Amino acid sequence: MVGIKLLLQPGKGYSYTYNDVPKNIKHPAILVDGRCAITPWGKELRIGGTMEFSGLNNKVLPQRMKGIYNSVKDCYPGLKIDLPPADKIWHGLRPVTPDGLPFISRHHAFKNLVIAGGHAMLGISQGTGTGKIVSELIQNTTTCIDISAFKVERFG
Ligand SMILES: Cc1cc2nc3c(=O)[nH]c(=O)nc-3n(C[C@H](O)[C@H](O)[C@H](O)COP(=O)(O)OP(=O)(O)OC[C@H]3O[C@@H](n4cnc5c(N)ncnc54)[C@H](O)[C@@H]3O)c2cc1C
Repeated sequence: MVGIKLLLQPGKGYSYTYNDVPKNIKHPAILVDGRCAITPWGKELRIGGTMEFSGLNNKVLPQRMKGIYNSVKDCYPGLKIDLPPADKIWHGLRPVTPDGLPFISRHHAFKNLVIAGGHAMLGISQGTGTGKIVSELIQNTTTCIDISAFKVERFG
């Protein structure tokens, strides 16, 4: 709306949640080799992962989910879960910047605008820190950390 174009592209992730897993695992884990995560709570179990750069769309590639499923089965061969049905696969788009760092700063064109976004894979983890920086920018106080790496105009 303000005519500022930010360099961002969607990074698609997939997940599937099982409702009633017999002998469910007890601890969440990141399966580094398979680049996926597995999260139990109670009888439920979520498996998810991937960072797919295929443009701005909501197309689901079941092969991607199969890769996640196979990695989980490799690590937990005793886990009784089936391949997720293609029409029940969840997907979401992460806003990814060229250097993977978020945009958090003012823009020279507008005195009353603070931009905060593009947190890629870590928006939930970094949200509170970003909120603190945004409050400092709005109050025109010194930010608690050096934010030069996050400048909105760093790509020109
Ligand atoms: C598949 C998937 C996996 C994920 N895994 C993880 C994970 O493992 N760990 C983790 O921490 N996070 C994870 N996330 C969360 C992800 O990092 C965030 O969804 C993403 O970073 C979005 O954050 P953002 O706020 O930077 O979004 P952006 O869309 O870039 O930021 C824009 C923000 O500004 C707000 N906004 C827009 N316009 C205005 C306005 N005019 N005034 C005020 N506010 C405005 C929007 O509400 C939004 O919050 C995952 C997300 C997906 C989709």
